Amino acid sequence: MSNKRYVIALDQGTTSSRAILVDHDGAMVDAVQRPFTQLYPKPGWVEHNPQEILFSQLGSLTELVARHGLSTDDIAGIGIDNQRETTIVWDPSTGQPIANAIVWQCRRTAKLVEELCGDPQTAQRIRAKTGLLPDAYFSASKVRWLLDNVKGARERAEAGELLFGTVDSYLIWVLTGGLVHATDPTNASRTMLYNIHENCWDEELLELFGVPASMMPGVRPSSGSFGETSYPGVPAAVPICGVAGDQQSSLFGQCCFAPGQAKNTYGTGCFLLMHTGADAIESANQLVTTIAASAPGVGHTEYALEGSVFVGGAVIQWLRDELGLIRTAAESEALAAEVPDTGGVYVVPAFTGLGAPWWDADARGTICGITRGTNRSHLVRAGLESIAYQVTDLVHAMEADAQRPIDVLNVDGGASANDLLMQFQADVSRRCLHRPHNVETTALGAAYLAGLACGFWSGTEELQALRASDDVFEPQMDAADAEKLLAGWSDAVRRARA
Ligand code: ADP
Repeated sequence: MSNKRYVIALDQGTTSSRAILVDHDGAMVDAVQRPFTQLYPKPGWVEHNPQEILFSQLGSLTELVARHGLSTDDIAGIGIDNQRETTIVWDPSTGQPIANAIVWQCRRTAKLVEELCGDPQTAQRIRAKTGLLPDAYFSASKVRWLLDNVKGARERAEAGELLFGTVDSYLIWVLTGGLVHATDPTNASRTMLYNIHENCWDEELLELFGVPASMMPGVRPSSGSFGETSYPGVPAAVPICGVAGDQQSSLFGQCCFAPGQAKNTYGTGCFLLMHTGADAIESANQLVTTIAASAPGVGHTEYALEGSVFVGGAVIQWLRDELGLIRTAAESEALAAEVPDTGGVYVVPAFTGLGAPWWDADARGTICGITRGTNRSHLVRAGLESIAYQVTDLVHAMEADAQRPIDVLNVDGGASANDLLMQFQADVSRRCLHRPHNVETTALGAAYLAGLACGFWSGTEELQALRASDDVFEPQMDAADAEKLLAGWSDAVRRARA
């Protein structure tokens, strides 16, 4: 066991960067968080200033270090988890990004993706190689856009003068003083340029998107060496030894290490991931296949199936900000509890279409079943229930693809704090939910990956043992009642799509 006291997780999210101090018991001793600016230069465009990401992340790290008087002797290693797909291109001779980061949510390349991958054959090849459904969401078309639209970028890239990276790569590069240009397989698998079966950047896809191979980072195991810190103000020579994209990091942080284990994160959107072991399962239900983060010594690539709900906790924000039915997200629970059910009301929050398994960009938000007796509580309850219904649809799709049941759904994310939602989720999905006491599983995953690599923890058994007893939600509702509710939901979805 390492005699150092802590590992540090750098949790680089979409709206803020955090540095978190984690001790041997897996407890989060302290955290520093710094938000940064969301840039919306045009409708549908989303950018971040990479320097601002950097300063928020390094600022939170140095503040944490100063607050606890930490030195190299105290920190066994650093783990990074990050917003996935967000794309940065920089010049290694100056360290300067050539443009703002294009954020995963940005839709500017939707047409480009249609042009490049619109024909079914190309789409199928991309699917087969990367596990992804061609979309502007992933990094490939974002790099292409930067090379096509930033003056001189293509020439410089072709001359080997520019580097590409997702946010993890950029942070690693800066933190190691420009020595290491690397990423891990979980992040690589979200670029749509990585062959998830052969574990390499795919030449055909690099060609298709016009991305020179010289720009690409080396891909290293998620739990392994990414160099050492060498940056002013940060304790020197601390190993960076854990890296994963946020959702895979949370799968790891939930201790889902074996096939069939699954987690759902209830944030603004919802992300359901199931570990599928050495099998890269191709979905028949519009889910994507992605690489899972592995503990050291596993010896083969591990995969996960992933599905997402676009509007999860965001429906609660909508009830709060647009309808003014609640003042805080937490208030939704007490209000919903004032009524035994929604009285037949369904909210389908298809604000931007519906994701898996429906995959319908044209569906729109719908409220149905309203009567003269419908009140605020019914509507808020229906909003909460819509999150659980959407996740249930995903659970069913994933179970069909994986051909195995999800016996236990591990849950986390902001809205998992809502007991009424969790109980309803257990009821309609007929699955048992486990909510860990520490729902910060994303950061925990990065800490675990780093801690395993540097011997801070001995192995995954030790990590499992760290997990304190969970809150458990068992299905209580009659199966027939659950069926009836789900049938009503399916009908509401049909209306939202009509
Ligand atoms: P993200 O990481 O996507 O920003 P978080 O995990 O912080 O999201 O969760 C925030 C989301 O959870 C918001 O959409 C908010 O509306 C919702 N939320 C937070 N607390 C509750 C609650 N008690 N009940 C229902 N929804 C909640």
